[in-house]
Amino acid sequence: MYLRYAKRLLTETDLRLLWKLTYNFGFKGARAIQKHKRRLKQGDFFPPFLYISIINSCNLRCQGCWVDVAAKQEKIEVDALSRVIREANEQGNYFFGIVGGEPFMHADILEIFRQHPDCYFQVFTNGHFITGEVAAELRKCGNVTPLISVEGSEIVSDQRRGGAEVLNKTMQGIHNCIDHNVITGVCTSVCKTNIDDLVNEAWVDRLIELGVLYMWYHTYRPMGPEASEELALSPAEQLRIRQFVVDMRVKKPIGIVDAYYDADGQALCPAATGFTHHISPWGDIEPCPIVQFAKESIYDEQPLAETFNNSQYLTDFRELAASHTRGCIVLERPDLLHELTVLHEAKDSTARKTAAAELLSMKPRPSQYNKMEEIPEKSWAYRFAKRHFFNDFGAYDSPQNPLPR
Ligand code: SF4
Repeated sequence: MYLRYAKRLLTETDLRLLWKLTYNFGFKGARAIQKHKRRLKQGDFFPPFLYISIINSCNLRCQGCWVDVAAKQEKIEVDALSRVIREANEQGNYFFGIVGGEPFMHADILEIFRQHPDCYFQVFTNGHFITGEVAAELRKCGNVTPLISVEGSEIVSDQRRGGAEVLNKTMQGIHNCIDHNVITGVCTSVCKTNIDDLVNEAWVDRLIELGVLYMWYHTYRPMGPEASEELALSPAEQLRIRQFVVDMRVKKPIGIVDAYYDADGQALCPAATGFTHHISPWGDIEPCPIVQFAKESIYDEQPLAETFNNSQYLTDFRELAASHTRGCIVLERPDLLHELTVLHEAKDSTARKTAAAELLSMKPRPSQYNKMEEIPEKSWAYRFAKRHFFNDFGAYDSPQNPLPR
């Protein structure tokens, strides 16, 4: 399987793009994690990966979306973003997750990639704005991989995403990228209405046939003002996805990403472990995209390195999450998270200003943490990669609960 995948990477994309992926993401990404580990040993902190929501606007209205997509447009301008990227470069970070809203609605998104050829960008997008011209520009830049979300069959896609012809427009975006040899991924926020259609071998084979080079199954988070809790997965369904991913990784010539399990199959939270934090379209620094409470901003006077190193709020978030679960504190203990935001007087970083009420109305539910059913990686390649570059970095060893008891 590994040779078949290597052959796909060498023959189905542009070798210049493959070099950028290997060096700007692979080599520099591994180095960023080594620097992170060294900082942790010295008692310092700067997350090796940042996810940046560059704009709130979106042309779709997905169930469970926590972003204020219908609010007045807010975006991070190229200059401000470049300052953040350069300051992160100083810490060894060269990989950035670009999210939204719909990032390709940001008029200057291509300029961001052009101005930072030494970096690598993964863009979470619905694909609707990736025309042939845009795809050609992405190829020219070479340092971008679009991760295009497919949320179900035609009917389910329109339901899930509150639009018409949603799947067709998304597939057109995928075709445009692949026609221009852009390294392209497909992701799904797996929920009750798409798990049977998209968590099966036929779908994986279809993506391989299409020329998609990697995929990512997220687990649906019932968040935001229209949470659609009925779509949330049961522990058995979450386990089914985990087993499927582990099995497909030794069988199919396609990369399969996940951000919730280490090499032994133990659950983890990438925010609690400090692997990543999030910047909102308003510049607020949040623990993760669905924790919409902040104390700091990229527009604060002090350098970003000081902001992350000195943030008691972010430190306490990591400690709180790690001291209560290896899974998702938002799903499992929204009450404790609310207590933490009150303790720190963290501001509601949404435009709708209802994040606190939403958190208080959330019913605790199971997340990726399932102590009794941990499924280790079968693939030696994923085991190696996770052992060295994606694990809990000791976050769960002896966390201190920051909440007064
Ligand atoms: S808090 Fe939950 S949604 Fe956020 S990174 Fe952790 S597991 Fe994921």
